[in-house]
Amino acid sequence: MTTPRLCHCEPRRGCHCEPRRGEAISIFAISFLLFISPGCERPQLYKETRVMMGTFVEVVSPDESASGIVFDEISRIEGLLSKYKAESEVSRLNNEGRLRVSPETLYILAKSKEFWYLSEGAFDVTVGPLADIWGFNEKKFRVTTESEIKSTLKYVGMDKIDLNNSDNVVKFKIPGIKIDLGAIAKGYALDCSINKLKEKGVKDCLINAGGQIYCLGKKGDTPWKVAVRRPRSNALSDKLRLENKSIATSGDYEQFFIKEGKRYSHILNPKTGYPADSGILSVTVISTEATTADALATAVFVLGKEKGLRLAKKFPGTKVEIIGR
Ligand code: ADP
Ligand code: MG
Repeated sequence: MTTPRLCHCEPRRGCHCEPRRGEAISIFAISFLLFISPGCERPQLYKETRVMMGTFVEVVSPDESASGIVFDEISRIEGLLSKYKAESEVSRLNNEGRLRVSPETLYILAKSKEFWYLSEGAFDVTVGPLADIWGFNEKKFRVTTESEIKSTLKYVGMDKIDLNNSDNVVKFKIPGIKIDLGAIAKGYALDCSINKLKEKGVKDCLINAGGQIYCLGKKGDTPWKVAVRRPRSNALSDKLRLENKSIATSGDYEQFFIKEGKRYSHILNPKTGYPADSGILSVTVISTEATTADALATAVFVLGKEKGLRLAKKFPGTKVEIIGR
């Protein structure tokens, strides 16, 4: 879960989370700042924040009903996909190895498989057992051994999962597989929330789920403005003006631990079993779909600049910014 005490948060300025030596930041460095200060046009904005999906979810909108709609929808998605909720479909599948799931869970698993295929295995939601041995799930971080990695890799691979579209049954081909949707679920929850807002007639809203943002409509008569916090500093990117777009950042500065001077990040390379080490500090993706922005940012982080940009080309209309070492 979260450790908000590690973060310094200011109204309108977001949160800054300081690493402790040898220890991990266990959650959300909110890597974005929202610019909701008054402009020429000064719409009255309602702002609500709640801890959900292991992070802060902030909703800003001129419509008072927006936050309730978003929080209800995110909580519904958490109930299906969270590995931390014992009764979620993902937790039950992880325990039982076979489960008839809801169409939504099947959809997000199929979408994950598509990213796995397109990224040639760099994006793989079966990294759960690897996250366990590196201590990322329990937040008891350790550098594991070569032999433990080798034996754990047997349980990693999206090809070891059967998804049956006709009866919605998901089946693990071998016991010991563990699904972890940490790299895509927040994006999906944002897309679902935006659909719900549209359904209920909300036209303008910004949702910030621990640094992954969706900007629906505008703030007054101009697009929403956000800025990305640069890795290893408090510096900010130029302000980005976003309308009906999502922005996601994956980086090695959000959850990591440092051991003997080496940084180990929570984004894992499913091929090697080690934390990804592709020379990238952070990847920011802008897309009309939050699910795509979320998954693509993680995949590019694992793949590295060259292969990552090649993958991004398969998603027309998305923008990718990579900050390397
Ligand atoms: P965050 O959610 O912290 O913003 P990401 O979207 O990059 O960052 O997701 C990282 C999370 O995704 C990890 O904490 C882990 O749960 C999961 N994960 C780690 N490596 C991979 C990978 N190669 N493919 C898919 N999911 C991954
Ligand atoms: Mg992601």
